[in-house]
Amino acid sequence: MERGEKVHWADVIAEDLIKTGRRPVVATGISPSGPIHIGNLREVITADAIYRALHDRGAEDARLIYIADTYDPLRRLYPFLPDSYEEHVGRPLSAIPDPEGCCESYAAHFLQPFLESLDELEIDIEVYRADLMYANGDYDEAIVKALRMRDRIALIIDEVTGKVTSHDWSPFNPICKSCGRLTTTIVTGFDTDRMIVSYRCRCGDENEVPVRGGGKLTWRVDWPARWAILGVTAEPFGKDHASAGSSYESGIKLSREIYDYDPPYPIPFEHVLLKGKGSMSSSKGVTITISEMLSCIPPEILKYIMIRVKPEKHIEIDPGLGLLNLIDEYERLDIGSVRSKKLSATKKSLMIDVPFRHIVNIVQIAEFDAEKTLEIIKRGGYRVDDLETVRRYVEYAKEWLERFAPQSVRFEVRQEIPREVDEIPPEVREGLVELADFLMHEGIDAEMVHQEVYAIAERIGVKPKEIFKGIYLSLLGRKSGPRAGWFLTSLDRDFVVRRFEGVER
Ligand SMILES: [Zn+2]
Ligand SMILES: [Zn+2]
Repeated sequence: MERGEKVHWADVIAEDLIKTGRRPVVATGISPSGPIHIGNLREVITADAIYRALHDRGAEDARLIYIADTYDPLRRLYPFLPDSYEEHVGRPLSAIPDPEGCCESYAAHFLQPFLESLDELEIDIEVYRADLMYANGDYDEAIVKALRMRDRIALIIDEVTGKVTSHDWSPFNPICKSCGRLTTTIVTGFDTDRMIVSYRCRCGDENEVPVRGGGKLTWRVDWPARWAILGVTAEPFGKDHASAGSSYESGIKLSREIYDYDPPYPIPFEHVLLKGKGSMSSSKGVTITISEMLSCIPPEILKYIMIRVKPEKHIEIDPGLGLLNLIDEYERLDIGSVRSKKLSATKKSLMIDVPFRHIVNIVQIAEFDAEKTLEIIKRGGYRVDDLETVRRYVEYAKEWLERFAPQSVRFEVRQEIPREVDEIPPEVREGLVELADFLMHEGIDAEMVHQEVYAIAERIGVKPKEIFKGIYLSLLGRKSGPRAGWFLTSLDRDFVVRRFEGVER
């Protein structure tokens, strides 16, 4: 920790975890029931920040794990699904076909891009697939215990929720052999010697399933069972799971009383909101996907957005100008503090030493050409010569401009004289010609251009604002644009001179 730096919340949590003396196993769990968006990512990045802080403190045996809830049932027909998927509601995600037909299952389809993003974010996480854990027998013992202690479990859940579970409720939901659903079955008996559970399904089927791979524990029981199975000692989760009557509250009791396991250190976190739209949610269609975001900004910025505030605070994402402000903030941070320690891991930082706000202008002048962009960057006095990095930034800026940028920052240098020049009064046109003459001198920099605009304005008796307007109208066909001195010195000099002279005619 640098001197004078505020202690980061992840360091505080890491200290707490180390004090418990338990092996730190930081768990996350996200259901691949739809596109996994940047709201979901908060959970993993929060866990990763704690994991890194643990390693910083010498906790070499710390682990970071992700349980993909691939065995969850499809809850309902989400808006992004075809109507034909109605029949799959209630079936485990791992047993439903991929809606787009490209992967082995529904679960795999949404899991795969998420895992790829984690890779890109340099989050080194051990992945468990819930369907495989059940199929491998990892849950066998927990299921048997739950079946045997059904009444006590029901009592604990009733106590916490203030509701009464129905007489035919079971902590275990068999998957119907006939219709494949696990939300429509009722347990009618079990035999722990033969390791089978018998059930009756709403579809009319009555049958038996094996404990191993034949069904799933209900969420409130699955969660604490998993803590014990995997030795989880810390877990971030959405604050909805943390309120009174929540699954964390019942989980604590079930963990202690049924599974004889000390529940993990809870790290409840607040929602990620999309500016003007509310909480991010795939099922409501209010979402930015992780890959969408990573197409516009380097991974470490996305991580920074997620860890700059404490977990108990909302994050509101404004992918437009707000994002530029955050990048500015990040670029001003002290390298070596939070910037390198919590975010970029072993690989070298992907950042470029030119403000992103500036790059957004440059790429538009350079018409998204990487070599031209690099040329302008160098002309601006930046010591950058890695064309590959520049190329990546051209892509970031291009994607951001297309997806999220407000109109005010988008511009296009017109190859022909725009007809909007008609709006320029004759005396201002003369001023532009004078400016063209001035630009012909060697060694003109941005500041000198500004001073010259003021001097010309005074000589010809117009407001400087009018000349600036004339500059933008003649080059962009609109009344405003990037800072004029910089803008004119970034463009090809002959091009600008020809244009200003052309406007006079
Ligand atoms: Zn697919
Ligand atoms: Zn059935």
